[in-house]
Amino acid sequence: AAKGSGRNRYTLHDEAHSESIRRRLQLKAALPDAILQGELSLHYQPQIDLNTEEQVGSEALVRWHHPTLGILMPGEFIELAEEAGLMRHLGRWVLGEVMRRVALTGRRGVGARGVIWMNTSASELDDPDFAVGVEKALSQHGVPGSALGFEITESVLMTNLGRARGNLALLRSLGVQLAIDDFGTGYSSLSYIGQFPVDTIKIDSSFIAGLDSPARRRESFAVITAVISLAHSLGLTVVAEGIETQTQSMILHGLGCDQGQGYFFGKPRASGT
Ligand code: C2E
Ligand code: MG
Ligand code: MG
Ligand code: MG
Repeated sequence: AAKGSGRNRYTLHDEAHSESIRRRLQLKAALPDAILQGELSLHYQPQIDLNTEEQVGSEALVRWHHPTLGILMPGEFIELAEEAGLMRHLGRWVLGEVMRRVALTGRRGVGARGVIWMNTSASELDDPDFAVGVEKALSQHGVPGSALGFEITESVLMTNLGRARGNLALLRSLGVQLAIDDFGTGYSSLSYIGQFPVDTIKIDSSFIAGLDSPARRRESFAVITAVISLAHSLGLTVVAEGIETQTQSMILHGLGCDQGQGYFFGKPRASGT
């Protein structure tokens, strides 16, 4: 019986696997049209100053409204878009959408709620025209660079820093803010922080979740404390990602963390900011 159920499990697993491959192929094939046909949208999640509890910015997060599969999250399609060579296209769409929004709502709306942050991919940072495109979009819409920020994951920054440097330098000269996203999950060590041309460090949500886990509390405290200390000594702003409880928020505030983002303050919403 043990043998039989083992085989059954194997078969089920096999079918689930080929089903997921089918779905990936289906999504990959549908992506180019999805962008063109307006099936993507942005949700915005607030970022809060932990001292004043005021909103100081928001992060734009892409969603795909698939005609038959419903709302798809970026975790399912960003990697596919990268594989399909569509990330530059997707990134330009995100930027255009954000610029349209800033221009529409102006100072009374989004602008008044601070910086709008976008996520960037490896292929965008590798694109020699990336920052020039941002510069053009800003001047076209009459928006100051300080209204925008770009988040770059630690691993992308580590492996592409050489090629990304020109883009990052131009963005900074425009007043655009730069952040390291998901900090602590990659291979970079604390000693590297000072070498990245960034203004902000976003501590990965796994460390925030760790504050509530008896097994990981000590380690999470240690990492968060060290990151805040080094970041502040370098003049960088620290944001904690994935804050889900008031306790986490209070602990982070007590540790000197500058800003927070997470379900406790607000989920990403279509009309958000
Ligand atoms: P990220 O940039 O680290 O974004 C934070 C993710 O955590 C978002 O997931 C957000 O919805 C989720 N989150 C926020 N607060 C909480 C919380 O309190 N608890 C939990 N459990 N989750 C929380 P989302 O929207 O699914 O995005 C996933 C990732 O996809 C992003 O991670 C980012 O790396 C990528 N992504 C999203 N939009 C874009 C985009 O326009 N361009 C690129 N290149 N990547 C994007
Ligand atoms: Mg991000
Ligand atoms: Mg993140
Ligand atoms: Mg993350």
